[in-house]
Amino acid sequence: MIVRGQLMDVPDSPFTGGGLRTTEALLVRDGTIAARGTYEDLRRDNPSEERLDLTEGLVLPGFVDTHVHYPQVRMIGALGMPLLDWLEHSALPEEARLADAGYARGVADDFLRGLIASGTTTALVFGAHFSSAVDALFGAAEQRGLRVTAGLVVSDRILRDDLLTTPDRAYAEGRALADRWHGRGRLRYAVTPRFSLSCSDPLLAACGALHGDVPGSWFTSHINENRAEIAAVIELFPDSADYLATYARHGLVGERSVFAHNLHASAAELALLAEHGSAVAHCPTSNSALGSGLFPLREHMAAGVRVALGSDVGAGTGFSLLKEGLQAYFMQQLLGEAGLPLTSAHLLYLATASGAAALGMAGPTADHWVGEFSVGSQFDAVWLSPATGSTLDCGLRNADSADQALAKAFALGTDADIAAVWVGGERVAVA
Ligand SMILES: [Zn+2]
Repeated sequence: MIVRGQLMDVPDSPFTGGGLRTTEALLVRDGTIAARGTYEDLRRDNPSEERLDLTEGLVLPGFVDTHVHYPQVRMIGALGMPLLDWLEHSALPEEARLADAGYARGVADDFLRGLIASGTTTALVFGAHFSSAVDALFGAAEQRGLRVTAGLVVSDRILRDDLLTTPDRAYAEGRALADRWHGRGRLRYAVTPRFSLSCSDPLLAACGALHGDVPGSWFTSHINENRAEIAAVIELFPDSADYLATYARHGLVGERSVFAHNLHASAAELALLAEHGSAVAHCPTSNSALGSGLFPLREHMAAGVRVALGSDVGAGTGFSLLKEGLQAYFMQQLLGEAGLPLTSAHLLYLATASGAAALGMAGPTADHWVGEFSVGSQFDAVWLSPATGSTLDCGLRNADSADQALAKAFALGTDADIAAVWVGGERVAVA
């Protein structure tokens, strides 16, 4: 298939000299990009190849969401509370409903439809506290063809009783889920303690054991989101130097670790994250909605910590990584001199290639190389094609450069502008 359009990607970090790259056409074979170039050249060299015309609008790599909660899709928009009140009154009552496998299947459908409709093709998903609900997520993701890394969420204190487990049960259920789903097609397992606040040391030790026993598994959790949360964690772990140490002592800080938020990180924590190659999922609408804080992006970059975007649905206000990118930009502007001014290329990088790198899905040696339009990578793509006469349509037609057109997509783009989505060269259905 020859894909023709205004194709844009950011394969190399603009924080270290990379920038926006454009091309007119791609040759896609068996889901993989086989060549890039002008439409004329690719057509001449492959005369019998099927053609796909996407010349109206923009074509971007499929978005990579590095932090999103599947059980929370139905409670997006619970505004007006800080983190711990929001969890108790809004998020956790809904999460408890996923004990019912039938209810969980419905939620899984709503969740995956939401991801696809927003152009997200790869996600690191916070699962549910119930094994049957995690099965429902993996099964539905496999059916739809999305790239999903997820796992059983575990906690053994502080949360409501029906969400609690024990270290032995957490290991056994996680192990069984990983045996069923890890490495199956586009699916992978992620060991997922909710956060140290709700996990005892023995439970985190069980998570460390499971992560070690499932080769290639991922690890994800929350960190340094809210000052009250951080103070409570420090009180519960008096012999840990900081929040990150509660995970590090169990071997949970490594190259396959993604920590959400990290708004109030110490210099020592940033240095340790960088040293171990762990990534941080920055979730700007969630941080804004819960009043958690302004993300210290400059400090993360200075320390050499990898950062990607997460929607953090349902504290985040939707699945769109265009909206998260714009909110990330707003946050850095509001930080004034402490902020890092972001271009549209930075935003696309954070929403695509950086997320792929955080999930080990970047470069020719990855099992599934996504997040960019390089030869050898998967054709995961989103086609933004705004309605004629819409403000985004007007903006794209009057943009002077590719960077400007992309900035308009972040400023104005919504789900309504997403005309089609592909994963591995196959178009995925939204319905
Ligand atoms: Zn979260």
